[in-house]
Amino acid sequence: KARHSMGTGAGLVEEWSTAGPSGSNGTAAALQEQRRNLPIAKGREALIQEIRNNDVTVLLGETGSGKTTQVPQYILESGLARTGMIAVTQPRRVAATSLAARVAAEKNEPSVGRLVGYAVRFDERAGAQTRIKYMTDGMIVRELLSDPLLSRYSVVVVDEAHERTLRTDLLLTNLKTIQRTRNGAGKDEAGTGKGKGKAENPLKIVIMSATLDAEKFSKFFNNAKILYVKGRQHPVKIYYSSEGQTDYVDSAMRTFFQVHTDQPPGDVLIFLPGQEDIESLEKSIKLFANQLPKDEMEVLICPMYAAQAPGQNAKVFAPTPSNSRKCILSTNIAETSITIPGVKYVIDTGMCKEKRYLARDTGGGFDTLLTKAITKSSAMQRAGRAGREGMGACFRLYTEDAFNNMALAPEPEIMRCSLTSSILQLKCLNQNLEELDLMDMPDVDSISSALKTLWLLDAINPNRELTPLGLQMALFPLEPIHARAVLASRENGCTLEVLDIISVLSASSKLFVDITEQRETAAEARRMFTHPSSDHLTILNAVRAYGEIVAGSAGKAARKDWCRKHFLNERTLLEASEIRVQLRQTCGRMGIDWKISCGDKEEPVVKSLAYGLAQNSAFLQPDGSYKQTMGQSVVKIHPSSVLCEKKVPAIVYDELIFTNQIYARGVSSVPKTVFAGIGALNRRIA
Ligand code: ADP
Ligand code: MG
Repeated sequence: KARHSMGTGAGLVEEWSTAGPSGSNGTAAALQEQRRNLPIAKGREALIQEIRNNDVTVLLGETGSGKTTQVPQYILESGLARTGMIAVTQPRRVAATSLAARVAAEKNEPSVGRLVGYAVRFDERAGAQTRIKYMTDGMIVRELLSDPLLSRYSVVVVDEAHERTLRTDLLLTNLKTIQRTRNGAGKDEAGTGKGKGKAENPLKIVIMSATLDAEKFSKFFNNAKILYVKGRQHPVKIYYSSEGQTDYVDSAMRTFFQVHTDQPPGDVLIFLPGQEDIESLEKSIKLFANQLPKDEMEVLICPMYAAQAPGQNAKVFAPTPSNSRKCILSTNIAETSITIPGVKYVIDTGMCKEKRYLARDTGGGFDTLLTKAITKSSAMQRAGRAGREGMGACFRLYTEDAFNNMALAPEPEIMRCSLTSSILQLKCLNQNLEELDLMDMPDVDSISSALKTLWLLDAINPNRELTPLGLQMALFPLEPIHARAVLASRENGCTLEVLDIISVLSASSKLFVDITEQRETAAEARRMFTHPSSDHLTILNAVRAYGEIVAGSAGKAARKDWCRKHFLNERTLLEASEIRVQLRQTCGRMGIDWKISCGDKEEPVVKSLAYGLAQNSAFLQPDGSYKQTMGQSVVKIHPSSVLCEKKVPAIVYDELIFTNQIYARGVSSVPKTVFAGIGALNRRIA
């Protein structure tokens, strides 16, 4: 299957160092050399011609061929984006931030946020000089609220379109109408950009995909032209496990050490479903690596997952020092979004995390993150990562039968996720999801369940029209349930406290380190902030205690140590404080005084949260179980909760976790009197 050979015999350093040793060429020159050697470089002129001549171009290319980093630069360098910026959308924030850094370096920029910038939720680095902006698909959809024609952008590059995230689908739908408006409607059925002349601020759309489903995008855009770019794929030998694995983390560890001791140099990429598995595998590999004989190659572990702060995974791109082997532990970020050079061996656990919406009998379902088997197309992409620079090997920790039984490709997210937040945003644009021209239409139950939730949150009225409150909710970069709590805090005089809590809930990892075997030790260590009946108020106490540590003279190391001692995830606290800055700014713009505090009073805080979490509520039953107020399920309180061994009349919770039972996690006791005040619940009870 080898279509091209590398030709250059490039060593690892030449191939991918961003800050490598500046030899006679200098780093900048070396980077330009790398750019010229990418497979896509040969097609540059043809590609620019096509984009110039067509309103919509679909570009299909193997992972690592240079689409994401090069196409935006080609467009910029060719002057195709004269009037506005080039947006490049990504499903994942880590991809957006790290690709922006890479392209800024290729452009010889001193920093990100000037010519090349990025925008992800709660973090934006872009300014007046920015011409290329990597952004999450969620951010550009949000931008529609303030700029419905996306008039600041001349070109929108929809990257990783094959992933079919909910936001990407909504973006594609909107781009179609925006382009019709901006480029002049009806003149030109074939979709060529020629002969218009009049459009003042035309929009070009480039859709990029790594898998073979490009036809569908082309059809959606009036049979837009499809271009192909070949990658450099070398043969990859596939090994299956002879029997199914129950513990994929353990089996990944064994396989890694087999590769490490038996195989010649070359880095190893291990695909795992999520952060927890990555952290646990990291620990066990470190433990065993320390016991290896001294003359073995050293193991360098590089984790990669969504919750990492920008730049935190930079070492994954640094050249592997001699006599060592890099071991990259990644979620499916490394499947198609980010190409890590130097990989020769892939270990595929065959698992990923998938968001899935669980509908409830009475409406208002919720999303869950479930670990499940990957699809064939993922398995093939994962294996492909081993063959980018030469022959490679992929160790599948599942049987060949299991592979043959895998689904072909994942279902588009719009078919399996909660639509609540999207429908709210669309309402603000005067759009009804059920009337849109979408690539795939979600089922009616999922739409009506989202509408019900919005109604219970007072975001829409019984006629399904947006309320003033709903409009305000949409202005927050938050889940509607959290935005509702913030808005309720205004009436209850506790915005300061509620923002402290919501910013922690919106961070990408949990605040309380929860390791099953150490639960008691952790509970003891956290006793000083434990609230007897509320996980949310416990969060508030922890945030306040940390605030005092920060305000005191404690240095960085001391703060870190303090967090470790109290089983708190400092990364979450740091991220939350950045989120809080953003939320306070949003409040400021909306005329909400974020400084309003209720001091030591608790009820206003719990009450505000309950307005948002009304649907996530349950009442104690005579037999000691809790039954959902808006569903039929009986839920237990998660062992990590401060309430797990107490009985209170009524609770609200952040989420449900499914193991052998249904557990509510992030729980607060709520006085029944508080419930009486919440319209949503009365509507239901009445
Ligand atoms: P595609 O989008 O077609 O998958 P990319 O444009 O993402 O391809 O990647 C092109 C090349 O740029 C790859 O060889 C990749 O290794 C390299 N690259 C991307 N990001 C970085 C980075 N942060 N550091 C070093 N190399 C990178
Ligand atoms: Mg890409």
